[in-house]
Amino acid sequence: MAPYLTDWRGRYRGAARAVVRPASTHEVAAVVSLCAEHDVPVVPQGGNTGLCGGATPGVDGEAIVLALGRLNRIREVDADNNTIVVEAGCTLAALQAAALGAGRLFPLSLASEGSCTIGGNLSTNAGGVQVLRYGNARELVLGLEAVLPDGRVWNGLRGLRKDNTGYDLKQLFIGAEGTLGIITAAVLKLFPAIHQRATAWVAVPDPGAAVRLLGLMRRQCGDRVTAFEIVGRSALDLVLAHIPDSRDPLPGRPEWSALIELSDPAETTDAAALLETALSRGVEEGFASDAVIANSIAQASALWALRENISEAQRLEGVSIKHDVSVPVSRIPEFLERARDALRQAWPDVRIVAFGHIGDGNLHYNLSKPAAEDNTAFVGRTNEVNRIVHDLVAVLGGSISAEHGLGQLKRDEILRYKTGVEMGLMRSIKRALDPKGLMNPGKVLDVIARAGCGD
Ligand code: FAD
Repeated sequence: MAPYLTDWRGRYRGAARAVVRPASTHEVAAVVSLCAEHDVPVVPQGGNTGLCGGATPGVDGEAIVLALGRLNRIREVDADNNTIVVEAGCTLAALQAAALGAGRLFPLSLASEGSCTIGGNLSTNAGGVQVLRYGNARELVLGLEAVLPDGRVWNGLRGLRKDNTGYDLKQLFIGAEGTLGIITAAVLKLFPAIHQRATAWVAVPDPGAAVRLLGLMRRQCGDRVTAFEIVGRSALDLVLAHIPDSRDPLPGRPEWSALIELSDPAETTDAAALLETALSRGVEEGFASDAVIANSIAQASALWALRENISEAQRLEGVSIKHDVSVPVSRIPEFLERARDALRQAWPDVRIVAFGHIGDGNLHYNLSKPAAEDNTAFVGRTNEVNRIVHDLVAVLGGSISAEHGLGQLKRDEILRYKTGVEMGLMRSIKRALDPKGLMNPGKVLDVIARAGCGD
């Protein structure tokens, strides 16, 4: 059972009565209704790549882990309707491949896509690198099938673009991190397959220039701008140090770089020429100082690998304190400057590793342990650092969890930033759907005691 009882980062470790691996919606429903009957908590788990401890059971050993990896069929691809019906345990990579097999694109894309599952993606409302053009996971869902906490099956598998028949129930389960029921299948939107893609690694003078370059790219290239990522020097240096065969794409060790991708379904578009023209303009305007455009798929993959291996490189480097924050895109430069100044004042030798989806206003703002400091002392400063970073995010109108969710990691932290009205509404919804508090207890919401679900 060991792999099911700890999370990807190895930060949480729990215990469980059993790991149960159903292969159909009917089996999920049978297991959940037995658990409801006998008051056994249920912890849903997909690919177990979540970064907030949401899929790890508690230490009391009372729950079962409901591992959904065997519930992984593609039920239907409807190319004319541009939809796919897929079961929750299907990996994101297998889903992308099935869409491509039908000449379509399923655009959700994360570095963990080989292991994470669509059920986990929807339960965390995952973001990733193409949100700029296609939106978060939530935006890609037309219909849902879920097993409710009492074991009933809700079949909402409608592939409709228009359906205004009351409350949009599927939205309750998306982003709920398994606290309201088990997602068993979904109807997802497909898009035309991409025929032209161009990728560039660009040195930008500072984050403000990156934001202005993003604006320029969107004006010149419209919706073809599918990814716009920012990578700080220290993040890139970690990849160069820990990931074999990685190479700095540009000379001069720029402090900030952007990874930009244009894509287009039309075969006639010359995406590379468009990108080059827009970047030349960016250099003229002073928003970029140097750039390299990939001239093969292998080169583009090598550029993407630099970005996608940052989390892994940081893991190999040692312990870190991580933040997954968002602020309005226009306030990213201010956030970076003020957070750096405040942290340096409190902790002069701390190493700031900043990178992320700047096009969505989402930064992964992490701290790596100073070489001389010991692990326990470093981690012991988490709350102090969270106050600095998260309070600043709140002042700038942002969110302390942009795309990873709350899980166990931010369950208590969120109480400081959401209003009583918001928390009260969330608790009311939880009570209405899961009165016994058996669905993923101890995640997302703080004080829903299992007996009685009181405040
Ligand atoms: P799990 O980790 O198994 O579960 C996540 C949560 O969903 C848990 O609360 C679990 O109980 C619940 N859950 C799982 N399946 C179901 C279900 N069928 N029904 C109800 N609840 C369920 N995330 C991003 O958003 N963007 C990124 O760019 C990104 N990059 C990453 C890169 C790396 C290297 C890694 C390791 C992770 C990254 N993640 C990213 C985080 C993670 O991959 C996502 O949160 C992903 O959506 C989790 O999917 P999973 O199947 O692994 O879910």
